[in-house]
This record gives sequence, C-alpha cells and structure tokens, in this order.
Amino acid sequence: MTRLIFLGPPGAGKGTQAKVLSQSSHIPHISTGDILRSAVVQQTELGKQAQAYMEQGELVPDELMRSMVKERLTQSDTAQGWILDGFPRNVAQAAFLEDFLAQVEQSCDVVINVEVPNEVLVERLLNRGRQDDTRSVVEHRLEVYAEQTAPLIDFYRDRQKLASINGNQSMETVTEELNQLLGAAVG
Ligand code: AMP
Repeated sequence: MTRLIFLGPPGAGKGTQAKVLSQSSHIPHISTGDILRSAVVQQTELGKQAQAYMEQGELVPDELMRSMVKERLTQSDTAQGWILDGFPRNVAQAAFLEDFLAQVEQSCDVVINVEVPNEVLVERLLNRGRQDDTRSVVEHRLEVYAEQTAPLIDFYRDRQKLASINGNQSMETVTEELNQLLGAAVG
C-alpha cells in the first residue's frame, strides 16, 4: 500500500516522476492539473469555472478542488494506494486532505519534496511550451508556489512525512533516488 504526495514547484518534474512510479507500482497517478486540463477541454462545469484561474497561473478555488479530490479519492482504484501530484497546493487544502483521509481511515505515507532552483524552473517551463507557460504566467506560477505552496514543506516536516529529493538531475537519476527513498520509506 502506497499513498504518496509529490510536492514541489511547477517544472520540478513531479508529473514525470509520478507517472513513472505509477506505471512501475500500478498505483493510480492523480494529477489535479491533468484533471483540470481535461475538464477545460471538455468544457464541463468544473472546466468552465477553472479555466480563467489556470490561464492566469492562479490557484483554482479550494471549494472546487475539494469536491474534485474527494470524488477521485473515493473511486475504487485508489484502494491500492494513490500518488497525488499537484494537490495539496496550500495549507487549507492540506488540512482538508488530512481530515478527509482521517474520515476514511487513511493517511499518506510520505510527501516527496522535489527541489529545483528557481532559475532552472523558469527555463524548463518556458521550454515546455504548454499554453499556460508564457513568461509572465510562469513567473506568476512560481510566486504563487512560493507564497501558497512552499509553506507545505514545514507542514509536512512537522508531521514527519517529508522526504526531499534533488530534482536538478537527469530524469533517470531522480527516478533512481526516488526508488531508493521509497524502498526505505514504505518498502
Ligand atoms: P499543474 O499541472 O499541477 O501545474 O496545474 C496547472 C494549473 O491547474 C495550476 O496552475 C492551477 O491553476 C490549477 N491547479 C492544479 N492543481 C491545483 C490545486 N491543487 N489547487 C488549485 N489549483 C490547482
């Protein structure tokens, strides 16, 4: 049983690592960014409400995120565990997740904090060429991360859940270090 959270700034490679791990461990990868992007493409009610926030690099309101995550984490495939990528994104979301998991008698095993220096992130994000990755939006997303998401590092350190990993290495090296870390943390 593995329940883990990937934490880290946009461009840190969380999504890539989460996908690799999901495939090797057969545990569902839950990316709130992916779910939102697909809701925008399909123009569902959630997509329509989220779109403007995403285009500006702002966080989508917690209320929308809460119902989305609750719905996803009650689907049957999550009985094997889950890999959360992009959630929680602020302290209120982390507190919600903690409460929700307590209600369903679960808790996360480990929070993986993927560390990458800011100047590397800007380069990576601009090269990625996603629609919400123009320079001003990229810079804003990094500010939002620093202000709202980075406090989760202390939040999870206080709960003895935090494990940090150097994301400024080749993808393969990060995967290797991650596997070592998880072998030690949850194996
Ligand atoms: P990501 O792919 O994780 O970088 O997410 C892309 C965009 O989706 C973010 O810039 C936010 O606008 C939105 N988003 C994703 N996850 C969350 C979340 N947990 N809370 C609020 N907004 C989110």
